[in-house]
Amino acid sequence: MSVPAMRRWLGDLLGLMFPVRCGACRVPIPPGEGGVCAECQSLVLGLVDQSYCGLCGQDAGPFALRPGAAGQAAVCGLCDAELYRYAALSRVGAYEPPLSDLIKQFKYAGGHPLAGPLGEWQAAHVSAQPWAARIDAVVPVPLHWRRRWGRGFNQSELLAEVVAARLGKPMAHLLARPVHRPPQASLPRSQRFENIRGVFSARHPREVRGRTLCLVDDVCTTGATLSEAARTLRNAGAAAVYAAVVAVSQPPTPFGRAMRDP
Ligand SMILES: [Zn+2]
Ligand SMILES: [Zn+2]
Repeated sequence: MSVPAMRRWLGDLLGLMFPVRCGACRVPIPPGEGGVCAECQSLVLGLVDQSYCGLCGQDAGPFALRPGAAGQAAVCGLCDAELYRYAALSRVGAYEPPLSDLIKQFKYAGGHPLAGPLGEWQAAHVSAQPWAARIDAVVPVPLHWRRRWGRGFNQSELLAEVVAARLGKPMAHLLARPVHRPPQASLPRSQRFENIRGVFSARHPREVRGRTLCLVDDVCTTGATLSEAARTLRNAGAAAVYAAVVAVSQPPTPFGRAMRDP
């Protein structure tokens, strides 16, 4: 038996012994499907028509979005444009199954290969934005080294690699995160913008100055982390900063729209 034939045979055998499962719904799927079953893929592809606020990323639901200033995203009635230091946010969908399941699998259950489909979807949504052509570089949101060490990888970096490759732009590590703060998840929204203040610093200022940058992260909850990252890059001279996430988490309300802390 030739080596490639042997490899194929071994691959088939392993496939029988350890069937690949969909990262979201866990049904067994044939190897080579990218870790997501066809049904979950079509659910995610169906999210393209959802309208959402270009700053906080929340579903627009029955509410009309206000058109932004020239070149700015349309925003919801609850968003204070002054609060956000990125110009617009792109998302694949809300933090709901199957996206939420895929992200959990990707971050906490060793599902690193899921960076492939998640990053591809992210890139497809960025490509559809009017600002996509202006991006000079893709910038992952860094973790503090203690977080990164604990997790073993930075999920934003794995996604940013795929997004950058798909967009044909370089990935640039233009942010450092020297300051450790309590996880944002433990704080109410009103405190998140304060808690995160000053945690990032800009690296390679010559690559930041005058450039249009696209931050990449997995999940956006209030936008505080992305906004602080954007503030840091803009203070270092970036011409404009945009943000791309896989999902935006939305607290449930009786009428399906996020109700947030004042
Ligand atoms: Zn599935
Ligand atoms: Zn909003």
